[in-house]
Amino acid sequence: MSESIEYPALYLKRGEDARLRAGHLWVFSNEIDVARSPLGEFAPGDVVAIVDHRGKAIGVGYVNPNSLIAARLVVRGLEHPFDRSLIVHRLNIALALRQQLYAEPYYRLVFGESDGLPGLTLDRFGDVVVGQITTAGMERQKDAITDAIVKVLAPRQVWWKNDAGIRAMEQLPMYADLGHGEYGGEVVAKEGGLVFGVDPVGGQKTGWFYDQRENRDGLARFVTGKRVLDMFSYLGGWGIRAGAYGAREVDCVDASAAAVEATARNIERNGLANRVKALRADAFDHLKALREARERYDVVILDPPAFIKRRKDFKEGSLAYRRLNELGMQVLARDGILVTCSCSHHMPRQALLDGVQQGARHLDRQVQMLVSLQQGPDHPVHPAIPETDYLKGYILRVLPA
Ligand code: SAH
Repeated sequence: MSESIEYPALYLKRGEDARLRAGHLWVFSNEIDVARSPLGEFAPGDVVAIVDHRGKAIGVGYVNPNSLIAARLVVRGLEHPFDRSLIVHRLNIALALRQQLYAEPYYRLVFGESDGLPGLTLDRFGDVVVGQITTAGMERQKDAITDAIVKVLAPRQVWWKNDAGIRAMEQLPMYADLGHGEYGGEVVAKEGGLVFGVDPVGGQKTGWFYDQRENRDGLARFVTGKRVLDMFSYLGGWGIRAGAYGAREVDCVDASAAAVEATARNIERNGLANRVKALRADAFDHLKALREARERYDVVILDPPAFIKRRKDFKEGSLAYRRLNELGMQVLARDGILVTCSCSHHMPRQALLDGVQQGARHLDRQVQMLVSLQQGPDHPVHPAIPETDYLKGYILRVLPA
């Protein structure tokens, strides 16, 4: 091993190294020994050596004195600096997994902490990469990350979609722009043999939700010949795939005009205009209108945005999930399939099912849970960081009581 590198030390209080040693990567501000290493001496994004109270280094990380998560560990030990070469190494390890999982280069390439790059998300759309940075420490490395991506993948474009709300907590600016390559050309996601046009600047998050791919694969045996409702359809991920699996009729519903227009184009380009429609409406209003009109679907898919963004919103948010699922059940056929999801990491898996069950009893229905859904393996879960296990869902059969 080469000799260790010098970084300013960030000292932890006694005992506050335990979580890091157990595998976690975060240091909260109240765990720092501010007498030995005053936080005010650091600028957002400074690279530091994270050191326990005995003076033993745990590893190299980065700090943000303005954030509740004051530091994140990037590499254990002091042998390796946090630089482009480390990022290249981590990208190659991440890439090896995705190349084994998928025949084509369309996937989440880096899932933050789970891939050893806390604060960084990268999605790959063939020869285009769309990245999202959520911390000052990663923002500081942006050029090194761009260089590392170019070295590992030689992409046509790298986009930075740095407009996530949580950036405000790190006091980072909001922007979405090209980071490498030339403007122009189309960005597409490929999934299940279909092609979806993606907008790397104006879209949601990085432009596409690869986390549901394997769950959408699982639609095949439930939708053939059926009437399907895809609520919160965004670009039509679920609904268009249901159409391709032979659904008789699919309605994709989203509140965003841009998403509905893009979905209509995706329906056309996949040759499904005879079966799949996109319409703009608020989900709750639309479900109520369908209920009043006594419309019925064989399969209802509910894949909403996160209703619980902060822990303190749990009560209100979990009620919203319950209300939504009740409305979904009210437009289901007598023996119907409900696909229900939550991407809020503050919504426990069991709480989602409990809400569905309570709603079912309220409506005098019986529910059978058939399949439990989770994020795909290109979004690996870090076992020590529960926040990385965020997507949950169920495929349920709903019957009269
Ligand atoms: N199901 C999608 C992802 C959904 S993202 C997929 O598989 O890719 C959340 C979507 O919900 C966004 O497109 C957003 O425009 C839409 N949305 C948010 N609030 C809504 C509401 N009240 N009614 C309908 N759509 C809404």
